[in-house]
Amino acid sequence: MVRRTMSYALVALSLPLRQSFTYRVPEALEAEARPGAMVEVPLRGRSVRGVVLARVRSSERADAQALTRVLSPPLLSPHLLELTRWVADYYLAPIGEVVAAALPGGGKGLAASRARRGAREDAVLRMALPERVTLSPAQRDAVREVEQAVRAAAFAPMLLHGVTASGKTEVYLRGALTAREAGGQTLVLVPEVALASQVVARFRQRFGGRVGLLHSYLGVGERRRNWELARRGALDVVVGARSAVFAPLPDLRLIVVDEEHEPAYKQSEQLRYHGRDVAVRRAQMLGVPVVLGSATPSLESLANAARGRYRHIQLPERIDRRPMPSVQVVDLRREDAALLSRPLRAAIAARLERGEQSLLWLNRRGHTHHLQCHACGWSPACPDCDITLTLHVDPLALRCHYCDHRAPAHSRCPQCEAGLQLRQSGAGTQRVERELARTLPAARVLRLDADISRDRAAPADVLERFSRGEADVLLGTQMIAKGLDFPDVTLVGVLDADVALHLPDFRAAERTWQLLVQVAGRAGRGRAPGEVLVQTCTPEHAAIAAFASGDTPAFQRQELAERRDAEYPPFVRLATLLVSGTDAALVEQAAVALGEHTRAAAAPLGVRVLGPAPQALARLRGRHRWHLLLKAPQARPLREAAAAALEWADRSRTLGRVRVMADIDPIEVL
Ligand SMILES: [Zn+2]
Ligand SMILES: [Zn+2]
Repeated sequence: MVRRTMSYALVALSLPLRQSFTYRVPEALEAEARPGAMVEVPLRGRSVRGVVLARVRSSERADAQALTRVLSPPLLSPHLLELTRWVADYYLAPIGEVVAAALPGGGKGLAASRARRGAREDAVLRMALPERVTLSPAQRDAVREVEQAVRAAAFAPMLLHGVTASGKTEVYLRGALTAREAGGQTLVLVPEVALASQVVARFRQRFGGRVGLLHSYLGVGERRRNWELARRGALDVVVGARSAVFAPLPDLRLIVVDEEHEPAYKQSEQLRYHGRDVAVRRAQMLGVPVVLGSATPSLESLANAARGRYRHIQLPERIDRRPMPSVQVVDLRREDAALLSRPLRAAIAARLERGEQSLLWLNRRGHTHHLQCHACGWSPACPDCDITLTLHVDPLALRCHYCDHRAPAHSRCPQCEAGLQLRQSGAGTQRVERELARTLPAARVLRLDADISRDRAAPADVLERFSRGEADVLLGTQMIAKGLDFPDVTLVGVLDADVALHLPDFRAAERTWQLLVQVAGRAGRGRAPGEVLVQTCTPEHAAIAAFASGDTPAFQRQELAERRDAEYPPFVRLATLLVSGTDAALVEQAAVALGEHTRAAAAPLGVRVLGPAPQALARLRGRHRWHLLLKAPQARPLREAAAAALEWADRSRTLGRVRVMADIDPIEVL
């Protein structure tokens, strides 16, 4: 083996490959080709861009080509390079894609744009207005803990568990002020772009212009500008969605992850990293505190708090002592009308008379078919995996989407002997809209769903009109469930609480409970108290009963016990291997082959393999999708098994036209 003592650079190229590339550094570029710099390199006769990850003195690649040009000084700090490397390693992801995610616009145009800088800096340095806010006693305690942690400048993960409207944002603000006093910056992550601008507005009131927004909906120019300002320390606070976890901040002192339970933090395509978990890791690398805030913390974070890994800070009351909304459960088994029950119609009518507003929420997550008894609410579930079985028509059978257990499709309910009905995931908003027009013709209704939000400006327009009082009822899907703050809304109607409950996902109950709490939190935020009406066929289900009684710890205890029995997180670690392609037969064949290989290879590592099974969304954008579920008590053997499976898939000929990806710590296992 020839080892040459020369100078080499390991370069990340934007390619879907889990490896870096070695290039020789010519003497003339020796000083410039530093880690973090963008460079131009030859690749199979072409010229491509990449980022230098590290410099090494020797290489086994005696034939390594030379890099051609250095395009920019280091764009990523040694810390951010370390973080991207950790993400690539932990999530078994291509390093080039992680590096691209850490740069605005994937790094395109960044080298050129650096010449024109500074022009806008003055424009954003407006003065902040002082604001007097009286803190509740619980808020005061929380603020003290966060401030102390910021001053201590050591890794301190904190779970800020506060009911809706308890003033969590104020706690974040005070922490950020303390970070600024120390000359440092704060990074605030929010799950959705729509929430980012609200949070930015709150921070600007206190910090003036030294608050920047970073998310993928911004124009490339603006994103690049904010990114540059952040990198030069010209911003005190950066607010952004998932990918802002890589924001370049020279003296980061505090990280906040708002709504930490939100699945939106997990990228669900391509590069599957979890923004919250990367944030915790980043805080640990830097030795700074990280605050995870939520009204409905994930069971993973609660378990971390219970084990003493996270500090548990609670805000048990709403600010200004406003009462929590009252909850009424409407048992649809006793109602004739499944869309709008009598109690819900009466409650809306009462708001019309008083000139108050109502939110009607229809969950439309996923599109699966399952059986449910309309008389007693029973649904068939997998005996091993504890998830709802999905109805398949050809051949007619119930199937588990984790382990592929199959059962005959029942026609009678085994519990009460009544006939079983096919339930699809909820009615459409348009049907509800027609039903409202028929039964409550006086109500002025606005609708906000996926159809409407296809036009980017439309959702903001609908919300604006609703807040001006141009409608009595806002009927919507996911996007109205959280974050909205309308003081005149005193009624929240949940049209079908069972939709998310029967998704074939082990987190279905937790997600249902979280969504109910979040959507209920929209009621009674002004002076008048709020009321929540929940329509369901299973009022006795733990998630719904706990929501109705407000007994959160009871729900969490029961859900944790079930997770322990069925071996799900937080008691085990999970990974999925996703197999997809355009040819159905080929995908199934590949999934079976991958399953056999992975099962054999994983057994000695103590990793259990379930499946392969078709995914709940068995076909998406023309691609057929199967998955394998890997379970292990520890993360390391799990990732080893998944990595080995990916390597085998890369080499295997059987898997030719089929794509195989890993999802470590998957958040939606559907
Ligand atoms: Zn029944
Ligand atoms: Zn199963």
